[in-house]
Amino acid sequence: MTERLPVVAVVGRPNVGKSTFFNRVLGARVAIVDDRPGVTRDRNFARAEWAGHRFQIVDTGGIVEGSDEPMDRQIRAQALHAVDEADVIVFMVDTKVGIHPLDERLAEVLRTAGRPVVLVANKADELPAVTSHHEFWSLGLGEPVPVSSNSGKGSGDLLDRIVALFAGRDDDPAAEAAVRIAVIGKPNVGKSSLVNRLFGEDRVVVSDVPGTTRDPVDSSLRYHGHTLTFVDTAGLRRHARIKDSVEFYSALRTDRVIREADVCVLVVDATEGMGVQDLKIGEAAWNAGCGLVILINKWDLVEKETQTAATFEREFKRRAPSLEPVPVLFVSALTGQRVHKLLDLVVEVWEQRRHRVSTPEANEVLELAVRRQPPPHHRGRPVKLKYMTQMAIEPPTFVVFANYPDAVPEHYIRYMHHAIRNRWPFTGVPIRIRMRGSSE
Ligand code: GDP
Ligand code: GDP
Repeated sequence: MTERLPVVAVVGRPNVGKSTFFNRVLGARVAIVDDRPGVTRDRNFARAEWAGHRFQIVDTGGIVEGSDEPMDRQIRAQALHAVDEADVIVFMVDTKVGIHPLDERLAEVLRTAGRPVVLVANKADELPAVTSHHEFWSLGLGEPVPVSSNSGKGSGDLLDRIVALFAGRDDDPAAEAAVRIAVIGKPNVGKSSLVNRLFGEDRVVVSDVPGTTRDPVDSSLRYHGHTLTFVDTAGLRRHARIKDSVEFYSALRTDRVIREADVCVLVVDATEGMGVQDLKIGEAAWNAGCGLVILINKWDLVEKETQTAATFEREFKRRAPSLEPVPVLFVSALTGQRVHKLLDLVVEVWEQRRHRVSTPEANEVLELAVRRQPPPHHRGRPVKLKYMTQMAIEPPTFVVFANYPDAVPEHYIRYMHHAIRNRWPFTGVPIRIRMRGSSE
């Protein structure tokens, strides 16, 4: 899954009708296409389709500037964050109130956001006989579009305008894929702490007051020209509250996010060591074809004299040899130590997972490997490996053509895995080798 849908963010001060717009207008008129099992539609987030255009729409919560309230500050920060991430911004104002000082300040931010803005004048209940929206021309954001979220009037025109702003983008070759990342691991290893650390405390609302979670299901950030999307970060925060069913929930969540991710970050608690359960989760991601990075977290709590990073890594890779190519990082989500290295590593693994080797190079590697050690005979006859080609990426998949494809033993296929990795490291990436029959 590497499709990056255009993001539409809805901003505006409280009480202009954003939630109503979301629930009534979107609920009734837009086809919600989120069909991932287990994901109920979030009040503040929807994947949608209108006139054949797919997009994500996010309600960022209200913005109250100049207030000392921490919640206001957080929500405002999150709206600015949405401006960073959005392709189109829907700025909602209230025709019953007219221009409010906060609208003016928000308009200032948006005029310099470098993003297309659709100015929506809500509560235009008397549509089409209505003129009250014209005063919003003075915000300097173009033509105000009147709608009534209560009745849904005007919303079709509005949606047409929104999708027109990213129409044609779908086949734009410059539109790059997002890197989809899942943070996985047992409960309490520090997954939520890590996500909050990565996004910075101001960027994620972590208030414990029920109903204050204003986040979309996924959170994205820009890093060195890449869009990094962390899958189901809302779930990470939600699971902390559902203490009773944590084990059950986290198992369900893991299965689901692994299927959606390009790269999984397995978080392990250093004070507990790498246990059977951690290895199981890591191997699940690996076997599903995900890229994998292992984070040994809470490294701040480890007595460095008794256990060094090198012995820790050697010890668990001895127990799980299939995870040998997986990079390991020793971090503290609490102090932030080495956390910054994670994103570079994730991007590297993502690139490796998309690496494609040419067929001549693949055959060179095959020939050399066979010359060093040919496969064992099959019923007294030589097994010939004729040629090898990489037929897929994400994950890299090689096909080897042979006269007796079913006769090549497991240990010899492992030997070929090593031969491939000797030439191309495929750091943190599972590779697959398939045997196929070839006549002649
Ligand atoms: P939010 O804080 O921006 O999410 O605003 P809400 O969606 O909670 O709406 C604030 C108030 O405005 C509620 O009482 C809504 O019923 C009302 N409202 C929303 N849309 C309309 C509309 O189109 N017309 C009228 N008359 N009232 C609306
Ligand atoms: P999750 O259930 O995997 O999301 O784990 P949390 O992020 O909720 O963390 C569980 C507990 O471990 C919390 O009390 C955190 O404060 C603590 N914790 C997380 N990371 C670290 C770390 O790097 N060092 C220390 N000492 N504690 C941490």
